Amino acid sequence: CGIIAAIARKNVVNVLKEGIIRLEYRGYDSSGLAIINKKNKILRFRAKGKVKNLIKIIKNKSLSGHIGMAHTRWATHGKALVKNAHPHISSNVAIVHNGIIENYKKIKTYLQEQGYIFLSNTDTEVIAHLIHFTQKIYNKKSLFNIIQIITKKLEGNYSMVIMDSNDSKVLLAVRSGSPLLVGKGEMGNYISSDQLAFSNIARNLIYLKENDIALLTHNNVTIFDKNGILQNRKEIESEIKN
Ligand code: GLU
Repeated sequence: CGIIAAIARKNVVNVLKEGIIRLEYRGYDSSGLAIINKKNKILRFRAKGKVKNLIKIIKNKSLSGHIGMAHTRWATHGKALVKNAHPHISSNVAIVHNGIIENYKKIKTYLQEQGYIFLSNTDTEVIAHLIHFTQKIYNKKSLFNIIQIITKKLEGNYSMVIMDSNDSKVLLAVRSGSPLLVGKGEMGNYISSDQLAFSNIARNLIYLKENDIALLTHNNVTIFDKNGILQNRKEIESEIKN
């Protein structure tokens, strides 16, 4: 339902916390947040119900990371339970997703045959394991190339953000079916389903087009279309004042 993700020269935990609070006005049933810490480990926290339940869980933890993501979920596959809340993880890969993977059952069965154990009832978890599985097959390919490969296998809508603890210098996003926009800020770059989520820190915005893949580092944003061709998408200035 709602996505906010960040990669910056500073700790992004507050940006993520504030971001999902700003996304609260949309409907949701659970929420979650993950960062990659200094030791290149993914730390994830999830809660059922209100965003404040999630904020309570992380309140007394001194969390720090330069890359991370948060999500408010509106369940389509799998009940509103903690185990179904995003981000979903497969070893080094973490993702948040808006939409529905129509062919998830087929992919899930295939991945289970390959030994993957599913911990949720969501369609989203198949994407995380499919990325991990594809990384194992093509172990020299970049995360960007892996995402190009797996998106060809997914049917349905899959606007999503992906991070990889083996390469915490990049954040990847795919727009498919629902809006995603990039925000460029002084200290880093952000991606969200809603400009409100980062309107206080990013004044320059780029709306992704359908099937775009965006590659964010803390000081750069590159956008490719579905054929892998570099695009020069229009940058606009935010009109929200705060
Ligand atoms: N289909 C996914 C799920 O049920 C994503 C739902 C959403 O867009 O929030 O977990």
